[in-house]
Amino acid sequence: MIRFENVTKRYRGTAGPALNSVDFEVQRGEFVFLVGPSGSGKSTCLRMILREESPSQGRVVVLGRDLRTLSSRKVPYFRRHIGAVFQDFRLLPTKSVFQNVAFALQVIGSSRAFIRQSVPEVLALVGLDGKGKRLPHELSGGEQQRVAIARALVNRPQVLLADEPTGNLDPGTSVDIMRLLARINATGTTVVMATHEAGFVDQMQRRVIELHQGELVRDERRGGYGDTS
Ligand code: ADP
Ligand code: ADP
Repeated sequence: MIRFENVTKRYRGTAGPALNSVDFEVQRGEFVFLVGPSGSGKSTCLRMILREESPSQGRVVVLGRDLRTLSSRKVPYFRRHIGAVFQDFRLLPTKSVFQNVAFALQVIGSSRAFIRQSVPEVLALVGLDGKGKRLPHELSGGEQQRVAIARALVNRPQVLLADEPTGNLDPGTSVDIMRLLARINATGTTVVMATHEAGFVDQMQRRVIELHQGELVRDERRGGYGDTS
């Protein structure tokens, strides 16, 4: 589903590589934690899966597409299969909850009827029934992240990427978001989540890929945050 083959990434004007010969493969339906200190390359990995960055060397294959040869014309279609959520939610502040989610469907040309049906369904799925008319600032942080998750899911992507999705949330709210991501994974969506939250990683005992200064130092099928293999 996602394959990194010897991926090295050097950003222009930086000393060492952000990623150094990284190799891993994620199967359909997996839940994967990407862990490692700040600056270890987690976000770079996620951006490469979205083809927002390209490897300096090596190859990234996502959903059967070699991203080296995917033409820029096809990138928007490719990205429809991948949902993404971030630490800072990235909602449109002047748009309602409904409009924030609907926007993801409007840009791909979905019909009004389809939007009117799909948006309430996905809002219910993330526990935001009846909040469609609110503006983001009228919601708690946890609710705002649920909106972002709803927006990421409304296209029914095969893969959900989450970059520190609980980084701005208090512990209780973070647990709820974590449960939601686990539930989404249980329905078949592959989830790749970059995180610093040792507690969740230890609790869930899922696949853990650990990076240090751009090197993959650990890849465990079921691991905790700080395990050594
Ligand atoms: P993490 O998500 O684990 O914090 P990142 O992938 O953001 O790590 O960063 C990995 C390394 O690449 C860091 O040294 C960071 O400073 C560098 N880096 C990330 N993005 C850029 C960029 N756009 N330009 C230059 N250097 C970058
Ligand atoms: P959808 O599910 O939206 O019909 P597809 O999965 O068939 O879309 O493909 C989405 C886009 O990616 C299309 O433009 C298609 O041509 C392109 N595409 C599909 N497979 C590949 C591939 N292996 N390499 C490059 N482009 C591809």
